[in-house]
Amino acid sequence: MTNQKDFKNRGYLRIFASYYKPHWKLFLLDMDGTLYLGDEVFPGAIDFIRTLEATGREYIYLTNNSSRAGIDYVNRLRGLGFPCEMRNVFTSGMATGMYLTDNYPGVGVYPVGTPAFERELESYGVRLSDGGDVGCVCVGFDTTLTYAKLDRAVHFLRRGAAFVAANPDWVCPMPADEVLPDCGSICALLTAASGVKPFYIGKPNRSMVDIISEMTGVPNDKICCVGDRLYTDIAVAVNAGAQSVLVMSGETTPDILAESETKPGWVMAAVPRITRSAPNSRQASKEAMERMPPPIWVKPPKAFISLCIRGRFWGLPALAPSRSTRCIWVAPAARKASASSSGWGL
Ligand SMILES: [Mg+2]
Repeated sequence: MTNQKDFKNRGYLRIFASYYKPHWKLFLLDMDGTLYLGDEVFPGAIDFIRTLEATGREYIYLTNNSSRAGIDYVNRLRGLGFPCEMRNVFTSGMATGMYLTDNYPGVGVYPVGTPAFERELESYGVRLSDGGDVGCVCVGFDTTLTYAKLDRAVHFLRRGAAFVAANPDWVCPMPADEVLPDCGSICALLTAASGVKPFYIGKPNRSMVDIISEMTGVPNDKICCVGDRLYTDIAVAVNAGAQSVLVMSGETTPDILAESETKPGWVMAAVPRITRSAPNSRQASKEAMERMPPPIWVKPPKAFISLCIRGRFWGLPALAPSRSTRCIWVAPAARKASASSSGWGL
Protein backbone atom coordinates (compact mmCIF):
# COMPACT_ATOMS: atom_id res chain seq x y z
CA MET A 1 0.00 0.00 0.00
CA THR A 2 1.23 3.44 -0.84
CA ASN A 3 2.21 5.45 2.16
CA GLN A 4 1.96 9.17 2.65
CA LYS A 5 5.50 9.83 1.50
CA ASP A 6 5.05 7.92 -1.73
CA PHE A 7 1.79 9.64 -2.19
CA LYS A 8 3.40 13.07 -2.00
CA ASN A 9 6.24 12.06 -4.26
CA ARG A 10 3.99 10.61 -6.90
CA GLY A 11 2.21 13.79 -7.67
CA TYR A 12 -1.13 15.36 -7.83
CA LEU A 13 -3.84 14.59 -5.28
CA ARG A 14 -7.57 14.64 -5.53
CA ILE A 15 -9.52 14.21 -2.33
CA PHE A 16 -13.18 13.33 -2.00
CA ALA A 17 -13.41 12.07 -5.52
CA SER A 18 -16.49 10.12 -4.65
CA TYR A 19 -18.45 13.34 -4.47
CA TYR A 20 -17.86 13.80 -8.19
CA LYS A 21 -17.49 10.43 -9.78
CA PRO A 22 -20.95 9.12 -9.02
CA HIS A 23 -22.13 11.62 -11.59
CA TRP A 24 -20.29 9.79 -14.34
CA LYS A 25 -23.08 7.81 -15.94
CA LEU A 26 -21.52 6.68 -19.19
CA PHE A 27 -17.94 5.71 -19.95
CA LEU A 28 -16.56 5.97 -23.47
CA LEU A 29 -13.61 3.63 -23.55
CA ASP A 30 -10.69 3.64 -25.90
CA MET A 31 -9.38 0.14 -26.42
CA ASP A 32 -5.80 -0.32 -27.59
CA GLY A 33 -3.44 1.05 -24.96
CA THR A 34 -6.32 1.49 -22.53
CA LEU A 35 -7.90 -1.96 -22.05
CA TYR A 36 -5.35 -4.06 -23.89
CA LEU A 37 -2.29 -3.85 -26.06
CA GLY A 38 -2.36 -6.06 -29.09
CA ASP A 39 -3.69 -9.33 -27.75
CA GLU A 40 -2.55 -8.72 -24.16
CA VAL A 41 -5.40 -7.71 -21.85
CA PHE A 42 -4.24 -5.37 -19.09
CA PRO A 43 -4.58 -6.72 -15.53
CA GLY A 44 -7.90 -5.72 -14.01
CA ALA A 45 -9.34 -4.37 -17.27
CA ILE A 46 -12.11 -6.98 -17.54
CA ASP A 47 -12.96 -6.59 -13.84
CA PHE A 48 -13.16 -2.85 -14.45
CA ILE A 49 -15.88 -3.41 -17.06
CA ARG A 50 -17.76 -5.81 -14.78
CA THR A 51 -17.60 -3.28 -11.95
CA LEU A 52 -19.12 -0.65 -14.24
CA GLU A 53 -21.96 -3.07 -14.93
CA ALA A 54 -22.37 -3.90 -11.23
CA THR A 55 -22.55 -0.26 -10.27
CA GLY A 56 -25.11 0.65 -12.91
CA ARG A 57 -22.82 2.59 -15.21
CA GLU A 58 -23.13 2.35 -18.96
CA TYR A 59 -20.09 1.92 -21.17
CA ILE A 60 -19.29 2.04 -24.84
CA TYR A 61 -16.09 0.91 -26.51
CA LEU A 62 -15.18 3.81 -28.76
CA THR A 63 -12.70 3.60 -31.60
CA ASN A 64 -11.45 5.80 -34.41
CA ASN A 65 -10.52 2.76 -36.46
CA SER A 66 -12.80 2.85 -39.49
CA SER A 67 -11.27 -0.11 -41.29
CA ARG A 68 -13.47 -2.61 -39.43
CA ALA A 69 -17.18 -2.78 -38.72
CA GLY A 70 -18.78 -2.65 -35.30
CA ILE A 71 -19.56 -6.37 -35.33
CA ASP A 72 -15.86 -7.10 -35.89
CA TYR A 73 -15.10 -5.33 -32.62
CA VAL A 74 -17.83 -7.20 -30.79
CA ASN A 75 -16.25 -10.48 -31.83
CA ARG A 76 -12.74 -9.32 -30.99
CA LEU A 77 -13.65 -8.00 -27.53
CA ARG A 78 -15.58 -11.15 -26.68
CA GLY A 79 -12.61 -13.19 -27.83
CA LEU A 80 -10.40 -11.29 -25.39
CA GLY A 81 -12.86 -11.96 -22.56
CA PHE A 82 -14.62 -8.59 -22.34
CA PRO A 83 -18.37 -8.41 -21.94
CA CYS A 84 -19.67 -6.82 -25.12
CA GLU A 85 -22.93 -6.47 -26.99
CA MET A 86 -23.49 -4.57 -30.21
CA ARG A 87 -24.86 -1.62 -28.24
CA ASN A 88 -21.52 -1.38 -26.41
CA VAL A 89 -19.50 -0.60 -29.55
CA PHE A 90 -19.28 2.61 -31.51
CA THR A 91 -16.80 3.20 -34.31
CA SER A 92 -15.96 6.25 -36.39
CA GLY A 93 -17.39 4.33 -39.36
CA MET A 94 -20.76 4.06 -37.61
CA ALA A 95 -20.66 7.77 -36.71
CA THR A 96 -19.82 8.60 -40.32
CA GLY A 97 -22.79 6.59 -41.57
CA MET A 98 -25.09 8.49 -39.22
CA TYR A 99 -23.58 11.83 -40.21
CA LEU A 100 -24.02 11.16 -43.94
CA THR A 101 -27.60 9.99 -43.44
CA ASP A 102 -28.46 13.18 -41.57
CA ASN A 103 -26.53 15.67 -43.68
CA TYR A 104 -26.48 14.14 -47.17
CA PRO A 105 -29.74 12.20 -47.46
CA GLY A 106 -30.12 10.56 -50.85
CA VAL A 107 -26.79 11.94 -52.07
CA GLY A 108 -24.51 9.60 -53.99
CA VAL A 109 -21.41 8.90 -51.90
CA TYR A 110 -18.12 7.69 -53.34
CA PRO A 111 -16.37 5.60 -50.66
CA VAL A 112 -12.64 5.29 -50.18
CA GLY A 113 -12.55 2.55 -47.57
CA THR A 114 -12.48 -1.14 -46.85
CA PRO A 115 -15.41 -3.42 -47.82
CA ALA A 116 -16.36 -3.45 -44.10
CA PHE A 117 -16.46 0.37 -44.12
CA GLU A 118 -18.67 0.38 -47.22
CA ARG A 119 -21.06 -2.15 -45.66
CA GLU A 120 -21.19 -0.04 -42.50
CA LEU A 121 -22.18 3.06 -44.48
CA GLU A 122 -24.82 1.13 -46.42
CA SER A 123 -26.29 -0.23 -43.19
CA TYR A 124 -27.19 3.34 -42.27
CA GLY A 125 -28.90 3.95 -45.60
CA VAL A 126 -26.04 5.73 -47.34
CA ARG A 127 -26.29 5.36 -51.11
CA LEU A 128 -22.89 4.47 -52.53
CA SER A 129 -22.12 5.52 -56.08
CA ASP A 130 -19.32 5.74 -58.60
CA GLY A 131 -21.28 7.61 -61.26
CA GLY A 132 -22.17 11.13 -62.24
CA ASP A 133 -24.45 11.64 -59.25
CA VAL A 134 -21.68 11.59 -56.64
CA GLY A 135 -22.07 14.53 -54.28
CA CYS A 136 -19.77 13.43 -51.51
CA VAL A 137 -16.48 11.61 -51.17
CA CYS A 138 -16.18 9.67 -47.93
CA VAL A 139 -12.78 8.39 -46.80
CA GLY A 140 -11.94 5.89 -44.08
CA PHE A 141 -8.89 3.95 -42.94
CA ASP A 142 -8.59 2.13 -46.23
CA THR A 143 -6.25 -0.83 -46.02
CA THR A 144 -7.40 -1.81 -49.53
CA LEU A 145 -6.49 1.52 -51.11
CA THR A 146 -5.59 1.59 -54.79
CA TYR A 147 -4.43 4.33 -57.14
CA ALA A 148 -7.68 3.97 -59.08
CA LYS A 149 -9.66 4.90 -55.94
CA LEU A 150 -7.50 7.97 -55.33
CA ASP A 151 -7.90 8.98 -58.95
CA ARG A 152 -11.71 8.75 -58.79
CA ALA A 153 -11.88 10.58 -55.46
CA VAL A 154 -9.81 13.49 -56.79
CA HIS A 155 -12.00 13.54 -59.88
CA PHE A 156 -15.16 14.01 -57.79
CA LEU A 157 -13.61 16.47 -55.34
CA ARG A 158 -12.40 18.72 -58.16
CA ARG A 159 -15.97 18.82 -59.41
CA GLY A 160 -17.41 20.08 -56.16
CA ALA A 161 -18.20 16.95 -54.16
CA ALA A 162 -18.21 17.34 -50.37
CA PHE A 163 -15.28 15.75 -48.52
CA VAL A 164 -16.09 13.75 -45.38
CA ALA A 165 -13.56 11.57 -43.53
CA ALA A 166 -14.09 9.06 -40.76
CA ASN A 167 -11.04 9.76 -38.61
CA PRO A 168 -8.09 12.18 -38.64
CA ASP A 169 -5.37 9.78 -37.43
CA TRP A 170 -2.19 10.04 -39.47
CA VAL A 171 -1.02 6.55 -38.64
CA CYS A 172 -2.22 3.38 -36.98
CA PRO A 173 0.33 1.96 -34.50
CA MET A 174 1.60 -1.54 -35.12
CA PRO A 175 3.78 -3.97 -33.19
CA ALA A 176 7.55 -3.46 -33.17
CA ASP A 177 7.11 0.31 -33.38
CA GLU A 178 5.77 0.14 -36.93
CA VAL A 179 2.80 2.14 -38.25
CA LEU A 180 0.28 1.98 -41.05
CA PRO A 181 -0.77 5.10 -42.98
CA ASP A 182 -4.22 5.90 -41.66
CA CYS A 183 -7.19 7.93 -42.87
CA GLY A 184 -5.56 11.32 -42.11
CA SER A 185 -2.63 10.53 -44.39
CA ILE A 186 -4.91 9.41 -47.22
CA CYS A 187 -6.90 12.62 -46.85
CA ALA A 188 -3.69 14.69 -46.94
CA LEU A 189 -2.91 13.20 -50.34
CA LEU A 190 -6.41 13.92 -51.64
CA THR A 191 -6.27 17.49 -50.31
CA ALA A 192 -2.91 18.08 -51.98
CA ALA A 193 -4.32 16.87 -55.31
CA SER A 194 -7.74 18.55 -55.14
CA GLY A 195 -7.35 21.57 -52.87
CA VAL A 196 -10.36 20.42 -50.82
CA LYS A 197 -10.07 19.82 -47.07
CA PRO A 198 -12.10 17.10 -45.34
CA PHE A 199 -14.56 17.32 -42.50
CA TYR A 200 -13.49 14.74 -39.93
CA ILE A 201 -16.03 12.77 -37.90
CA GLY A 202 -13.94 10.75 -35.42
CA LYS A 203 -12.08 11.83 -32.32
CA PRO A 204 -11.17 14.60 -31.49
CA ASN A 205 -14.23 15.97 -33.30
CA ARG A 206 -17.02 16.12 -30.74
CA SER A 207 -19.49 14.51 -33.17
CA MET A 208 -19.11 11.02 -31.76
CA VAL A 209 -19.78 12.15 -28.19
CA ASP A 210 -22.74 14.24 -29.30
CA ILE A 211 -24.24 11.34 -31.25
CA ILE A 212 -23.80 8.96 -28.30
CA SER A 213 -25.30 11.52 -25.94
CA GLU A 214 -28.33 11.75 -28.19
CA MET A 215 -28.64 7.96 -28.51
CA THR A 216 -28.35 7.26 -24.79
CA GLY A 217 -29.95 10.38 -23.31
CA VAL A 218 -26.89 10.96 -21.11
CA PRO A 219 -25.77 14.62 -21.23
CA ASN A 220 -22.17 15.32 -22.22
CA ASP A 221 -21.09 16.41 -18.76
CA LYS A 222 -22.13 13.03 -17.34
CA ILE A 223 -20.01 11.22 -19.91
CA CYS A 224 -16.43 10.26 -19.13
CA CYS A 225 -13.95 9.59 -21.94
CA VAL A 226 -11.15 7.20 -20.99
CA GLY A 227 -8.10 6.73 -23.16
CA ASP A 228 -4.34 6.79 -23.56
CA ARG A 229 -4.01 9.44 -26.29
CA LEU A 230 -4.17 13.12 -25.44
CA TYR A 231 -4.85 14.42 -28.96
CA THR A 232 -7.79 12.09 -29.61
CA ASP A 233 -9.22 10.47 -26.46
CA ILE A 234 -8.80 13.48 -24.19
CA ALA A 235 -9.24 16.17 -26.82
CA VAL A 236 -12.65 14.81 -27.80
CA ALA A 237 -13.78 15.10 -24.17
CA VAL A 238 -12.50 18.66 -23.94
CA ASN A 239 -14.22 19.61 -27.21
CA ALA A 240 -17.50 18.01 -26.17
CA GLY A 241 -17.59 19.30 -22.60
CA ALA A 242 -17.28 15.76 -21.20
CA GLN A 243 -15.17 14.39 -18.34
CA SER A 244 -11.86 12.74 -19.16
CA VAL A 245 -9.43 10.23 -17.69
CA LEU A 246 -6.01 9.74 -19.21
CA VAL A 247 -4.51 6.34 -18.46
CA MET A 248 -0.75 5.97 -18.51
CA SER A 249 -0.91 2.40 -19.79
CA GLY A 250 -0.56 3.36 -23.45
CA GLU A 251 1.37 5.80 -25.56
CA THR A 252 1.37 8.91 -23.34
CA THR A 253 4.46 9.39 -21.19
CA PRO A 254 4.81 11.86 -18.30
CA ASP A 255 6.92 14.07 -20.58
CA ILE A 256 4.27 14.11 -23.30
CA LEU A 257 1.63 14.95 -20.71
CA ALA A 258 3.71 17.77 -19.26
CA GLU A 259 4.24 19.36 -22.66
CA SER A 260 0.70 18.93 -23.96
CA GLU A 261 -1.73 21.84 -24.08
CA THR A 262 -4.59 19.36 -23.86
CA LYS A 263 -5.01 18.49 -20.21
CA PRO A 264 -7.15 15.61 -18.93
CA GLY A 265 -9.47 15.97 -15.98
CA TRP A 266 -7.84 12.99 -14.32
CA VAL A 267 -4.69 10.98 -14.82
CA MET A 268 -4.48 7.41 -13.60
CA ALA A 269 -2.05 4.58 -13.97
CA ALA A 270 -4.61 2.24 -15.52
CA VAL A 271 -8.37 1.68 -15.77
CA PRO A 272 -8.83 -0.39 -12.56
CA ARG A 273 -7.88 2.69 -10.58
CA ILE A 274 -11.05 4.41 -11.76
CA THR A 275 -13.39 2.06 -9.95
CA ARG A 276 -11.09 1.08 -7.12
CA SER A 277 -10.56 4.60 -5.95
CA ALA A 278 -13.98 6.11 -6.01
CA PRO A 279 -17.01 3.93 -6.55
CA ASN A 280 -20.40 5.28 -5.73
CA SER A 281 -20.92 3.46 -2.47
CA ARG A 282 -24.65 4.11 -2.44
CA GLN A 283 -25.20 2.44 -5.77
CA ALA A 284 -22.45 -0.10 -5.74
CA SER A 285 -23.53 -3.64 -5.29
CA LYS A 286 -22.17 -5.58 -2.38
CA GLU A 287 -20.14 -7.73 -4.73
CA ALA A 288 -18.47 -4.74 -6.30
CA MET A 289 -17.67 -3.30 -2.91
CA GLU A 290 -16.13 -6.55 -1.80
CA ARG A 291 -13.78 -6.50 -4.76
CA MET A 292 -12.46 -3.09 -3.74
CA PRO A 293 -9.26 -2.75 -1.77
CA PRO A 294 -9.50 -1.21 1.69
CA PRO A 295 -9.60 2.59 1.73
CA ILE A 296 -6.32 4.44 1.96
CA TRP A 297 -6.09 7.01 4.67
CA VAL A 298 -4.53 10.26 3.62
CA LYS A 299 -3.65 12.94 6.11
CA PRO A 300 -5.81 16.00 5.34
CA PRO A 301 -4.07 19.28 4.55
CA LYS A 302 -3.73 21.71 7.42
CA ALA A 303 -5.99 24.20 5.67
CA PHE A 304 -8.74 21.61 5.63
CA ILE A 305 -8.39 20.85 9.35
CA SER A 306 -8.46 24.57 10.04
CA LEU A 307 -11.64 24.91 8.01
CA CYS A 308 -13.31 22.14 10.01
CA ILE A 309 -12.37 23.75 13.33
CA ARG A 310 -13.41 27.24 12.26
CA GLY A 311 -16.62 25.90 10.82
CA ARG A 312 -17.56 24.52 14.23
CA PHE A 313 -16.50 27.75 15.91
CA TRP A 314 -18.61 29.87 13.56
CA GLY A 315 -21.58 27.56 13.82
CA LEU A 316 -21.21 26.37 10.23
CA PRO A 317 -21.71 22.74 9.32
CA ALA A 318 -18.46 20.99 9.93
CA LEU A 319 -16.83 19.40 6.95
CA ALA A 320 -15.62 15.91 7.34
CA PRO A 321 -14.96 13.03 5.00
CA SER A 322 -17.69 10.45 4.91
CA ARG A 323 -16.91 6.84 5.68
CA SER A 324 -17.30 6.01 2.05
CA THR A 325 -14.83 8.62 0.90
CA ARG A 326 -11.86 7.17 -0.81
CA CYS A 327 -8.84 9.20 -1.68
CA ILE A 328 -7.14 8.85 -4.99
CA TRP A 329 -4.14 10.40 -6.52
CA VAL A 330 -2.56 10.77 -9.83
CA ALA A 331 0.64 9.07 -10.65
CA PRO A 332 2.26 10.99 -13.50
CA ALA A 333 5.32 8.82 -13.28
CA ALA A 334 3.31 5.70 -13.73
CA ARG A 335 4.17 3.21 -16.37
CA LYS A 336 6.38 3.68 -19.27
CA ALA A 337 4.24 3.78 -22.31
CA SER A 338 4.25 0.87 -24.62
CA ALA A 339 4.25 2.21 -28.12
CA SER A 340 2.92 -0.70 -29.98
CA SER A 341 -0.27 -2.43 -30.73
CA SER A 342 -1.78 -4.90 -33.04
CA GLY A 343 -3.12 -4.13 -36.45
CA TRP A 344 -6.42 -3.28 -34.83
CA GLY A 345 -5.00 0.02 -33.70
CA LEU A 346 -6.45 2.77 -31.60
MG1 LIG B 1 -5.51 4.05 -27.63
